[in-house]
Amino acid sequence: MLTVEGLRSRYGRIEVLHGIDLEVGSGEIVTVVGANGAGKTTLLRCLSGIQPVSSGSIVFRGESLNSVPAYRRPARGLAQSPEGRQIFTNLSVEENLRLGAFLFSDDKVERDMEEAFVMFPVLREKRNLAAGGLSGGQQQMLAIARALMARPSCLLLDEPSMGLAPILVAQIFEVVKGLRALNVTVLLVEQNAFGALSIADRGYVMETGRITMSGPAKDLIADERIREAYLGI
Ligand code: ATP
Repeated sequence: MLTVEGLRSRYGRIEVLHGIDLEVGSGEIVTVVGANGAGKTTLLRCLSGIQPVSSGSIVFRGESLNSVPAYRRPARGLAQSPEGRQIFTNLSVEENLRLGAFLFSDDKVERDMEEAFVMFPVLREKRNLAAGGLSGGQQQMLAIARALMARPSCLLLDEPSMGLAPILVAQIFEVVKGLRALNVTVLLVEQNAFGALSIADRGYVMETGRITMSGPAKDLIADERIREAYLGI
């Protein structure tokens, strides 16, 4: 579904992605784990088109995305739940969800919203309240639900567990795992390597702008180097 080859990106003169190769198959949950500053967010921003690519290719569903501007990528089936959630705090929960559906004006928007409320009942309870009043976990759920309103075939998730209490982290990972049943392919970027690898099919380890290891998630979780460096085991 998504193939990235030799991807390089820079901030000014400083290159932070040094040639990333990565593949996400249809229906997979793939995770990129790595420490703070490894370049995971930059990678996702390149995929959604808000960060310039200096070289390399991004092919999504058989077509190059390199010259497709960010605002056209959701219509291709790619949606992002960004780092720090970036919800519209002064708009209501429902308005945030409707913004996620900005591509559509059909009746299915109402059904999609109903599905979002089934997936996240707390959002139904708070649908008319300002999103800024939600707890961190609820805001994360809203960010995921809003991205799903774009009916993506592939969802890019940037650190959904960040800043959440352990019980909410577990809940968010369960939700991500559940996306498999909805036929949504997921690329999940996480510092919480254990949580992410526990629900993923495959994983990549990123260190200072390079992929240093990759493989089936269960093999990475069992790998001594990963257990020492990322899992604290
Ligand atoms: P985090 O978990 O903290 O988001 P990350 O793995 O997502 O980490 P990035 O945010 O992609 O990493 O950052 C990769 C590198 O690029 C870091 O060295 C960071 O300091 C640098 N960087 C990120 N954003 C900018 C920017 N806007 N300008 C300059 N350098 C940046």
